[in-house]
Amino acid sequence: MNPFDIAIVGGGAAGFFAAVTAAENNPSARIVLFEKSSRVLGKVKISGGGRCNVTHACFDPDALTIHYPRGGRELRGAFHRWQPSDTIDWFSGRGVELKTEADGRVFPVTNDSHTIINCLVDSARAAGVVIRTSAGIHRITRTDPGFELDMGDGDHIRAQRVFVAPGSLKNSPLVASLQDLGHTIEPLVPSLFSLHVNDERIQGLQGISVEPAAVAVRPGRKMQAGPILITHNGFSGPAILRLSAWEARRLYELNYRCDIGVSWIGDRKAESVRKDFNGLRRSHGGKAIKNLPAAGIPARLWERLLQAAGIPPAQRWSHLGRDRENALLNQLLEARFAVNGKTMNKEEFVTCGGIRLSEVDFRTMESRLVPGLHFGGECLDLDGITGGFNFQAAWTTGRLAGLALCPTG
Ligand SMILES: Cc1cc2nc3c(=O)[nH]c(=O)nc-3n(C[C@H](O)[C@H](O)[C@H](O)COP(=O)(O)OP(=O)(O)OC[C@H]3O[C@@H](n4cnc5c(N)ncnc54)[C@H](O)[C@@H]3O)c2cc1C
Repeated sequence: MNPFDIAIVGGGAAGFFAAVTAAENNPSARIVLFEKSSRVLGKVKISGGGRCNVTHACFDPDALTIHYPRGGRELRGAFHRWQPSDTIDWFSGRGVELKTEADGRVFPVTNDSHTIINCLVDSARAAGVVIRTSAGIHRITRTDPGFELDMGDGDHIRAQRVFVAPGSLKNSPLVASLQDLGHTIEPLVPSLFSLHVNDERIQGLQGISVEPAAVAVRPGRKMQAGPILITHNGFSGPAILRLSAWEARRLYELNYRCDIGVSWIGDRKAESVRKDFNGLRRSHGGKAIKNLPAAGIPARLWERLLQAAGIPPAQRWSHLGRDRENALLNQLLEARFAVNGKTMNKEEFVTCGGIRLSEVDFRTMESRLVPGLHFGGECLDLDGITGGFNFQAAWTTGRLAGLALCPTG
């Protein structure tokens, strides 16, 4: 006898969304959710600085996918089935009003992640989901029919179908049994972090934010655009976080020691900046270059860039020669910095890597190798940049799995 039809492993965003969806869809199904910690939805609680950035106001599924360094292609179809507007409607239908901030991030109007937690927990309880906390699952094995879940204390639970949503698989006891079941785990490395840079040009300038800016791993990688924030030990801000996500694997391989090229003027081209310089030569030729920053560069950073370009403090615009102009352009457009480490972003971080996506059917989130086993959320090899995209992936994969997690037999 199977005591449960559906077992959910992990009481996070994906686990709860799947549990509520499955329970509301199959009122007679016996559903249990296992959470290893004493409290469910721990990450929702701390997310978005305690406000929970639930999703992002991007309602075109195709456009949404470009925010996922890994998994965008696989998520395209899934987003056609469940996308941010569905998430917003789902919460609003349960009395949780959400608001969109200027940058597209969506939060509860209460600015309190407990609003989201309460909604998910209340919905799960109302739908009859059994929630078991301090109940970590150590192994999942196939039985015929269904699965056996090993609680690690000699206790075993059986279920017909299992939804695996334990978040990051880094250090997870589940890795061994998932591999035994035939699944491949793509290398697990951090994503969404700031970079350590020890360089005279930015010393003491913490707090200065430059926008638009852009940054790339050098040599030869793609530029990521957005504001760059100078911190006490290097660089952070949206462009850096984006770089850390898109280059998560490369930076890991380089042990977070590499060169980056920073453009302090975004994607502007050298010729357009030369025109600005020429304009300044004509209109303010007698003024010191130091006192007239070009291209909107903050004054204190401008001074450092002039120093790095070998331009004396008293040099006037009219006396800026071609060599020094080129050196200054180089500092503006492609300033090289040596990275020597990283710090995880406190606001939001995720693991890159997890269950290989080709082994999962994204219509149902069911394993292509083990029928009845479904996956969702961060344990998959998919992750987004900051801004609510990671939770959206959890809601979408949880929803699709929940719809497919019908008991059989
Ligand atoms: C500080 C921080 C802030 C963040 N803020 C945001 C944000 O504002 N917006 C956004 O989109 N994303 C944010 N993220 C990312 C987001 O939290 C994750 O992408 C999301 O939580 C993934 O959901 P999940 O359900 O897959 O995993 P999780 O939320 O990690 O949930 C998995 C749950 O499973 C439990 N578990 C693990 N192993 C087992 C096991 N063996 N047995 C039973 N239970 C187990 C865990 O304790 C956990 O409760 C943030 C991340 C961090 C670290």
